[in-house]
Amino acid sequence: MLYKNYIGGEWVEAEGGQTFKSVSPADTSDLLGEFPASDERDVNKAVEAADRALREWQKVPAPKRGELLFKVAQEFERRKEALARLMTREMGKVLNETRGSVQEGIDMTYYMAGEGRRLRGYTTPSELPDKAQYAIRRPIGRIAMITPWNFPFAIPTWKLMPALVAGNTLVWKPATDTPRMAYELVKIMADQGLPPGVVNLVFGSGSKVGIPLAKHPKIDMITFTGSTEVGREIYRYGAEKLNKVHLEMGGKNPIIVLEDGDLELALEGIIWSAFGTTGQRCTACSRLIIEDGVYEELLKELVERTERLKLGNGLDESVDVGPVVNEAQLNKIHEYVQLGIKEGAKLLCGGERATEGELAKGFFYKPTIFGDVKPTMRIAQEEIFGPVLAVLKARDYEEAIAIANGTNYGLSSSIYTQDVNKAQRAIQELEAGITYINSGTIGAEVHLPFGGVKWTGNGGREAGEAAIDEYTEWKAVYIDYSGRLQKAQGIE
Ligand code: NAP
Ligand code: MG
Repeated sequence: MLYKNYIGGEWVEAEGGQTFKSVSPADTSDLLGEFPASDERDVNKAVEAADRALREWQKVPAPKRGELLFKVAQEFERRKEALARLMTREMGKVLNETRGSVQEGIDMTYYMAGEGRRLRGYTTPSELPDKAQYAIRRPIGRIAMITPWNFPFAIPTWKLMPALVAGNTLVWKPATDTPRMAYELVKIMADQGLPPGVVNLVFGSGSKVGIPLAKHPKIDMITFTGSTEVGREIYRYGAEKLNKVHLEMGGKNPIIVLEDGDLELALEGIIWSAFGTTGQRCTACSRLIIEDGVYEELLKELVERTERLKLGNGLDESVDVGPVVNEAQLNKIHEYVQLGIKEGAKLLCGGERATEGELAKGFFYKPTIFGDVKPTMRIAQEEIFGPVLAVLKARDYEEAIAIANGTNYGLSSSIYTQDVNKAQRAIQELEAGITYINSGTIGAEVHLPFGGVKWTGNGGREAGEAAIDEYTEWKAVYIDYSGRLQKAQGIE
């Protein structure tokens, strides 16, 4: 089937008439649809539509905008299983996880629906008599939204829902690898009565759609989740126009296991964090830092259990690990594995593409563990975004923290210890936007702030109350009812 862009409330073809296909990474003969390969002309139309819709959408009372989101959330809930299955087909992660991903989008949509009756500002007394003053939130305006393929439903809802409840309009460019999920999400919103032009969807590549969208002079804010490399480029486009730019980028997330940690608990958390979503989560654990005394014991058991993970099509409920998203990603992962070997790390399992039987139909890579990794190695520093875990040894707590903090990234982090003092210190000392105690690096809930420090972000946070701060600007209001000119700061 040929899908279309959604611009100004109409489903329309790209001006240039070009298309691209979305196929399953588990079985490339499984086609999810054909989509417009749009360009700057389509972006311009979409931004104009967002511009036209803005005045009316801002005037809709926030509780009414919230009610619309509530209806959307209910429809997501009704369609949960179908959406999860589509997601597994389109980007590969196993059903158990895609169900969770859809649920995350549902949770976020309900949360932000409720925000419609809050959107809290504040009042405060004036220094002058007969004068009232308060602060209210205003929408920012026309927002460009650019998203990755690994959470093709949840991440868009993290951005769309707070932006919409606050009264913004958007143009969305989804990832080339997951256009079908974007279509389904927007279709549901449109069917629930979203006014024309409030959300516009333009399919196409980063270069042909993403760049002109980010550069568009009528865009007031850019919200982006993806790689640090692309985020940096987008930040520059935003700077030219003095736009607010929200960036959520890469990670190199560590789990620390201390000698007093519960090893069984740690093993489960490590496997889930390193190989869930085939390692393709921004919060995936890609570095395991083990204290000397339990290094051998933990690593031996970890390798054994990792070798038992079942690879396959995520639609099969018995499968643990699905494919990686595309061939380019598969090659990139394998290059990093070759590099790790060259750097002198010890390959303990995996390290190659899996092609047995049905696996030959897709892009499967064996879960891979490197031991004896040194903190300066590139496999310990750079985001690989695949099922590759680098294991490092630490002398003690101090060295473990130093290794954990010794990268440019700072999204998630975790420590396994039964020592309450060390756990509390780690919460203070780990340079990351998220810290888990006695749990892996993944599992964020939608009502807490989500984001990272250093190269992972530029200071913003998604989710929870923090998201409302991202998608609104403050206005200070002063009402003087004294009937004379009163001057603040004691001016006579
Ligand atoms: P990506 O290559 O940076 O792409 C992200 C989005 O940007 C896609 O829609 C992409 O379009 C678009 N894009 C690419 N080049 C562009 C350009 N020059 N200008 C404007 N837009 C451009 O990232 P990805 O491979 O999709 O996703 C993986 C990355 O996302 C990892 O680094 C991961 O850590 C990060 N991530 C971060 C978070 C977080 O919350 N911190 C969450 C999930 C993922 P195309 O698809 O057409 O290339
Ligand atoms: Mg990409």
